Amino acid sequence: MLALQGDVREHAAALERAGATAVPVRTPDELARVDGLVLPGGESTTMSRLLVTFELLEPVRQRLAAGMPAYGSCAGMILLARTVLDGRPDQEQLDALDVVVRRNAFGRQVDSFEADLAVAGAGDEPVHAVFIRAPWVEKAGEDVEVLARVPHTAEAGDAADRIVAVRQGRVLATAFHPELTGDDRVHRLLVGIAEEDVDLEER
Ligand code: GLN
Repeated sequence: MLALQGDVREHAAALERAGATAVPVRTPDELARVDGLVLPGGESTTMSRLLVTFELLEPVRQRLAAGMPAYGSCAGMILLARTVLDGRPDQEQLDALDVVVRRNAFGRQVDSFEADLAVAGAGDEPVHAVFIRAPWVEKAGEDVEVLARVPHTAEAGDAADRIVAVRQGRVLATAFHPELTGDDRVHRLLVGIAEEDVDLEER
């Protein structure tokens, strides 16, 4: 896990339950040793600044460009995106997902919102999704697979149909926080992607 800011501990616990060894990444050396990276929820503008301060911005960009498996939740999704709307002018993007995200998209009406979502690849049972000052994906490029959209419910209102989980190649992102609900299926998806890589290396 990128361990500069945000809910790192919750992601570590989810990764361990999903069968991975979770290690904090704060230096380029630590980054070089991981098979995949989780970018936690928190505050994307702060994380962006800390990525620069800890000299991790370019190394993370390079590993993502080279195909490192990654998963970002909420603020992590914002960082992975190519373009952010309603971000700070100096906010850095990792450019690993060909999407336009809108920051604090739900937050204009409500700070948090919960919904049961069908998430492609996570099995038949819906995922109980907790959104906290969450972004949504306003536009997704051709190579981006949409994994989940906000369902049509009374609470969802205008947010219905908005894209809230995506995958492009080995990179996953959700606008919500599965690490907060004890549902490890999204983390299992990431671990599965990282394991495919290891299988290939061993062949
Ligand atoms: N609003 C936060 C941001 O812009 C994201 C919130 C979250 O990660 N729960 O980074």
